[in-house]
Amino acid sequence: MPAPLTLLETSSNLPDHADAVVIGGGIIGAFAAYYLTRRGLKTVLIEKGRIGAEQSSRNWGWCRQQNRDARELPVSTKSLDLWERFQEETGEETGFRRCGLLYLSNNEEEIAGWARWRDFAKPLGVTTHMLSSAEAAERGYATGKSWKGGVFSPTDGIADPARAAPAVARAIIKCGGTVIQNCAARGIETEGGRVSAVVTEHGTIRTKAAVLAGGAWASSFCRQLGIRFPQASIRSTALSVSAEAEGLPDTLHTSGITVTRRGDGGFTLAISGRGRVDVTPQQIRFAPQFLPMFFKRWRNLAPGGLEGIRGGHETLSRWKLDEKTPMERMRILDPKPDAATVRLTHQRALELLPELSKTKIQAVWAGFIDTTPDGVPGIGEISTVPGFILAAGFSGHGFGVGPGAGHLIADIVTGEEPLVDPKPYHPDRFNNSAWGKVADF
Ligand SMILES: Cc1cc2nc3c(=O)[nH]c(=O)nc-3n(C[C@H](O)[C@H](O)[C@H](O)COP(=O)(O)OP(=O)(O)OC[C@H]3O[C@@H](n4cnc5c(N)ncnc54)[C@H](O)[C@@H]3O)c2cc1C
Repeated sequence: MPAPLTLLETSSNLPDHADAVVIGGGIIGAFAAYYLTRRGLKTVLIEKGRIGAEQSSRNWGWCRQQNRDARELPVSTKSLDLWERFQEETGEETGFRRCGLLYLSNNEEEIAGWARWRDFAKPLGVTTHMLSSAEAAERGYATGKSWKGGVFSPTDGIADPARAAPAVARAIIKCGGTVIQNCAARGIETEGGRVSAVVTEHGTIRTKAAVLAGGAWASSFCRQLGIRFPQASIRSTALSVSAEAEGLPDTLHTSGITVTRRGDGGFTLAISGRGRVDVTPQQIRFAPQFLPMFFKRWRNLAPGGLEGIRGGHETLSRWKLDEKTPMERMRILDPKPDAATVRLTHQRALELLPELSKTKIQAVWAGFIDTTPDGVPGIGEISTVPGFILAAGFSGHGFGVGPGAGHLIADIVTGEEPLVDPKPYHPDRFNNSAWGKVADF
């Protein structure tokens, strides 16, 4: 059974023009379209499958500042406020709560790293509490184990991946925007070099602004426009169990296992950083740029199989705008979960939290996490195609920063004061052959 997702009924009437078209109905595209609609722009959000059905419903739901790279911290902090404000201003329920995030460890080097991060983040106004061994044992009482230390970030939280993107899409519709599912964007038309239209499988929408929030599909789409966007996906596996366990923390991260309470009371279980690399022609093409990332993360990675080729999202081929494209052949990327990871995850979770033995496995799934070479997203207008804004490569962090990233995208489209400094995210940095600093966490 795949990751749970709230299904949404949407219109199938494609407008022939719009002020802005957002391609991709994950959390990033949904929030971008929401903020554009709220500013009075006639906005259309088009999704080739179902709203939220790819990464945005397959994640753990962590919305965190804790351990964030300096380049991403500003947008993370703003996002937490925006998650709260979104629920107040729309009445839509994303399941967001500032329940705090708990990390426990017996590794002194890891604990020292958290303390360094605390020192870096404090002047920026981020509260995070280092835990002594006694405090860690108290907060982690459900483990029944002793810990050398830990960290608790009380202002961070979680939202519900099953509900969030659909809730934002409903808010877009309430505000007068248009959401269309089962509609793939095939490409972009230009006039005098500027975006003039988005071509979809169901017709053409004239527009001067096109936002590509296509997740793992972004690089292959960009390739059709002559834009080089180095991107690679890692297949990550997770499972959910039922709600019978009592007295567990809402969130708990250890190096062996991460546990998160879900909106339905059950728990998502996963092993942080562990993934399979399903090699594709695109990955081979961009391999040199990903070397620093690979050397930093390789311990948790294992070779995969043909799931990347089967997905079709990392194709190097060119497609025609009047023929069926890879996006229409794969409406929802639903890669196979890794069976060995499922077994190990479940076993480690029961060892860490014996109370979980009262629960049953409800769902098992995998998702392709789309990453950039430096682990920081690519957000910005592409200078060679004015009017085309790329917003992808969220590198395993995009759910939590969805509201801030969506707001920033709307700022870029409308030319308003940006929510945060957009420079660290600009995709122009990928044109530089120098290796950028890989995000720490
Ligand atoms: C197992 C797992 C755990 C994770 N845990 C966390 C976490 O705890 N916290 C966190 O912040 N992040 C987490 N992430 C990462 C997070 O889920 C992603 O960064 C985020 O969801 C990316 O959102 P997105 O909108 O960019 O992409 P997606 O959610 O993948 O959405 C992209 C959408 O674009 C659509 N699309 C693509 N091309 C086209 C086209 N041509 N036309 C129309 N539609 C198109 C796709 O169908 C898809 O629905 C996790 C990811 C995984 C897989």
